[in-house]
Amino acid sequence: MRPVDKNLFTLNKTTYKPYGDAKPDLISALGNFCSYCEREGYSSALDVEHIEDKSTHPLKTYDWDNFLIACKNCNSIKGTELVDFPNIILPYLSNTFSPFEYLESGLIKIKSKVDPVSASKAQNLINLIGLDRRPGHSKFSIKDDRWQERKQAWELSKRYHDKFINKKCDIETIVDLALKSGFWSIWMNAFNDCTNVQIALINSFAGTNKSHFTNLSKQKKNNFTLKFLLYPICKILKRMK
Ligand SMILES: [Zn+2]
Repeated sequence: MRPVDKNLFTLNKTTYKPYGDAKPDLISALGNFCSYCEREGYSSALDVEHIEDKSTHPLKTYDWDNFLIACKNCNSIKGTELVDFPNIILPYLSNTFSPFEYLESGLIKIKSKVDPVSASKAQNLINLIGLDRRPGHSKFSIKDDRWQERKQAWELSKRYHDKFINKKCDIETIVDLALKSGFWSIWMNAFNDCTNVQIALINSFAGTNKSHFTNLSKQKKNNFTLKFLLYPICKILKRMK
């Protein structure tokens, strides 16, 4: 799940009444993507999401700090569930990208190397949004088509990863497709061997919390330095042949 930073959007107000007025600013801040499942959607398909439900926390009904943006499925599944903050990770508070991996067909899974406490918090996030619901899951509903869109994004990202590796498309094409299809995390996962593409994805999706990915820029710099240092050595070795 893409970690986000709403504070990057500097024109925001602190309260919005009615709360629906916050939607354009939320989309400017975070892009037209569900903050939870990451699907892309038109404004009409996305709702202002109250992190703490407005019926149980009426004083937070109009607070920017209590808003994310969510698709109909994520919004209705989360419903009035209480958020157990100490025992869950959330995209505006934590690095919600690192504990998850996306398997074939876009199946979301917690990485095996994640420590038990962090794994439990990540699982609570999956449960809160029902992100693992697909045919066969006890709570799956036919109205929930998130798994299908995730599967399509996974297939598309894999196909274009292979094209990119074979130099049949450029980074711009990948970013354009990712923005169109949504599911930033799936694209990041598919291109985990291409630092340049991952950095472009981080920079191109509005509101991505870059502070969780500073290691990627360092990695890119180190790769460049290594290449720069090795280049003359390779040249000398070539001449010696
Ligand atoms: Zn969603």
